[in-house]
Amino acid sequence: MLLKLNNIPFDFIILLQQPEDLIIKKALSRKTCEPCNKTFNSQEFISQDFHLKNIHPQVKSNCPICNTLLATRKDDSFRSVKKRFFQFSVFHEELRNFALYKEKIIFFDLFKGVEDLSRLVRTIDDHYDKLLGDSKSL
Ligand SMILES: [Zn+2]
Repeated sequence: MLLKLNNIPFDFIILLQQPEDLIIKKALSRKTCEPCNKTFNSQEFISQDFHLKNIHPQVKSNCPICNTLLATRKDDSFRSVKKRFFQFSVFHEELRNFALYKEKIIFFDLFKGVEDLSRLVRTIDDHYDKLLGDSKSL
């Protein structure tokens, strides 16, 4: 993967971060509606400085759109989620080291999930402003 990335020009890599315990709790409590391809989570999660609100808190068992019984994804077992997180962590470490080496990395904590989108956009804008400012001063 990184060999391919090494040949692709990029401005920077953004590493979105959340604590492992939060990711596991989120995955284990989410429900999906296959016909609608929607995900629901009636719980909210707080860990360290992270606070993720629930998605459709009123939804407990059936999809509010098509009334299909909501299901847990087969790969959302504790063992499977831990394994996916470990695999991600190994790749993440390799990617992190590569980006640090290239000095093109932005660490971004997703404190509130999708509510962090505008802060992420501002962070990217600020990063480009800094890149452009640095190139103007050369
Ligand atoms: Zn549905």
